[in-house]
Amino acid sequence: MIVFGSTGSIGVNALKLAILKNLHISALACGGNIKLLNKQIERFKPEFVCIKEAKDRHLVKHKNVFVGQEGLERILELSSDTLLLNAIVGFAGLKSTLKAHKLNKKIALANKESLVVAGEFLKGANLIPVDSEHSALNALLKERQNVKKLYVCASGGAFFKLKTKDLKSVKPSDALKHPNWSMGSKITIDSATMANKLFEIIEAYHLFNIKEIDAFIEPKSLLHALCEFQNGATSAYFSKPDMKLAIAEAIFDTHEFEILPPLDFVKLSHLKFHKISLKKYSLFTLKNALLNNPNLGVIINAANEVMVEKFLKQKCEFLDISKGVFKTLDHFGEPKIRELEEVFEYDRKVREYCENFSFIV
Ligand code: NAD
Ligand code: MG
Repeated sequence: MIVFGSTGSIGVNALKLAILKNLHISALACGGNIKLLNKQIERFKPEFVCIKEAKDRHLVKHKNVFVGQEGLERILELSSDTLLLNAIVGFAGLKSTLKAHKLNKKIALANKESLVVAGEFLKGANLIPVDSEHSALNALLKERQNVKKLYVCASGGAFFKLKTKDLKSVKPSDALKHPNWSMGSKITIDSATMANKLFEIIEAYHLFNIKEIDAFIEPKSLLHALCEFQNGATSAYFSKPDMKLAIAEAIFDTHEFEILPPLDFVKLSHLKFHKISLKKYSLFTLKNALLNNPNLGVIINAANEVMVEKFLKQKCEFLDISKGVFKTLDHFGEPKIRELEEVFEYDRKVREYCENFSFIV
C-alpha cells in the first residue's frame, strides 16, 4: 500500500492496521512532521518517501526522497502497489487522487476534499470511502436496491452543547476539543462549523450517485449512517467511534477478523437524534445549493480552508469562517466548470480573494 498523509490521524491509524496484517508499505508521504516520518521509515522501510517542502529534505532519513505534488505523482508512477490510501488533508490531496485514478489504482479515500472540489472528474474511479459515514453507507448499500434516501450522521462537533450566541467568543483551543473523535485540526474545526457534514453530503452524492441525502445529529457518534428504502424500511450502521474500522474496510480485502469490539446495546443509556440547526450551523444551509450545483464545491472548499487557517492562527473569529464562505460565494457567483484546469484556477482565485479579507479580532 502507498500511504499519503502518513503522519496524520488517519495515516497513523492505517499504519497500525498495516502492522496487524503485515501489509507491505511501498511509500510514505507527509507535510511537515519529519520526526514521525523518520520513525515510520525505520519501521516500514518504504522504497519511496515524499515530503511537502525541499527545505526539510536533509532531515529525512531515506535515500529516495521526493518533494511536493510532483513528488507524490512520481511515486504513484514508480510504485507497483495498486492501492493508495490518500489521507492528505485539504485541496492538497486532489492531484494524488487524480493521478492514482489515471493509473487505475484503487484509492482508499480519506481526502474527501477531492470529491468536494472535483467529483465530476473522478467518475469511474475505483474509490473506497474511508470516511466513517460513507464506509457505513457502502456496507448498507451492498446488494440492496430500491434505495430511497441516505442519511449521514453528525456529532454536532465541539460546540453542540453551546447556544448560537455563545459561539462569538470561542477560541481555537475550544473548537479543537471534539467530544468523540480524535482527528486532525482542519476536520475538527469543520465538524464544529458543520462544513464537514456539508462536504460529506456531496461526497455521498459523488460516491453513490444519489441526491436524496440528508444529515442529522447523533451526539455520541455511535450511529454513522442510515439507508431508507422505498418500502418504508430503514437500515442503520452502528459502531464505536474509531476510524480503524472504516480504514480497515477500505484497505483490506477480507473482513472476517475483529477490528473493534462491538457495541453493547443493552448498556447504552440512550440515543438521541437532533435536527441540524441552520441558525447555529449556517454553512449547512448550502446543502441544496451544493447538490444542485456541485461546482460550488471548489469555491466553498477553498474559502473554508483559508478561513479555518485564519481562525486557527487567531486572525479571525469562529463565526467569521462561515461569514467568509458566504462572502466569497456572493463574490464568485455560480461557477460553470467544464475542464479540470478550471478547478485549480478557481481554487487559486478564491484563496487569493479570501486571503485579503481583513477581520478585526
Ligand atoms: P491530519 O491533519 O491529522 O493529517 C493530514 C496529513 O496530511 C498529515 O500527514 C500531513 O503531514 C499531510 N499533508 C498535509 N499537507 C500535505 C501536502 N501538501 N503533501 C503531503 N502531505 C500533506 O488530518 P486527518 O484528520 O488525518 O485527515 C486527513 C483526511 O482524512 C482529511 O481529508 C479528512 O477530512 C479525512 N478524514 C479524517 C477523519 C479522521 O478521523 N481524522 C475522518 C474522516 C475523514
Ligand atoms: Mg465523516
